[in-house]
Amino acid sequence: MEKTIPFWEGVFRQDDEGGSLLGNKCSACGRIYFPKAQFCFDCLAQDLEEVVLSRRGKLYSYTIGRLPAAHFEPPYALGLIDLPEGLRVFAPLQFSGEESYRIGMAMEVTIEALWKEGDQQVIGYKFRPVV
Ligand SMILES: [Zn+2]
Repeated sequence: MEKTIPFWEGVFRQDDEGGSLLGNKCSACGRIYFPKAQFCFDCLAQDLEEVVLSRRGKLYSYTIGRLPAAHFEPPYALGLIDLPEGLRVFAPLQFSGEESYRIGMAMEVTIEALWKEGDQQVIGYKFRPVV
């Protein structure tokens, strides 16, 4: 079986539902961060605990990439997804045609293969429309 490695450690997890993003939460004021913060930008507290973020959110905006990028063949889609926690997450979108996206539509996290590095498959998160 092919080895898989995350594109970044501690940013997401795979679970029975597919996967979730991992953020952290300030123990003092409750602000939630994604990606994780080293300290709270609101109250400067340094005590933050890991939290599993909601799998679903709403598409705030998106764009279609048409120029070659390091790891993505054009066309590809990038979006901003608003999560119920009050976070706006920047993420690649699962590309299924340029007409697939609508502002405000429900989106969910999916963990998938992104690219290969040698004999290892790099995996990461994307968002896709909820069907
Ligand atoms: Zn705080």
